Amino acid sequence: MGMWIFVGSAIGIAALILAVIAWVNRCKECGNLGHAFSSEKVADFDSGKAFVVCKQCGARKHQGTVSADGSVMWFGGGTGTFDEDGSYQSDSGGYGDGGDGGGGGGE
Ligand SMILES: [Zn+2]
Repeated sequence: MGMWIFVGSAIGIAALILAVIAWVNRCKECGNLGHAFSSEKVADFDSGKAFVVCKQCGARKHQGTVSADGSVMWFGGGTGTFDEDGSYQSDSGGYGDGGDGGGGGGE
């Protein structure tokens, strides 16, 4: 019996945490809550700034620092790398943007 209360509480707490994360990281421009979990990332190498871009309204927010070699330090913690073609790879094991896992060569 107590087991189910525990499970229910755990799910409730997890949902609450996700809701808080979504709310805190929502897009300030359009209020898009999905922004916390799905957003574009772009780098401006000239200014050394890394931006998180809202997929819904396109608002750009200065959220990190990018080096000339493409490595990014986010203000909120975490690092990543911008490839030459502008695509972003997170160093934290693909949190957020998928990731292809293997990383081996084809052939
Ligand atoms: Zn937005």
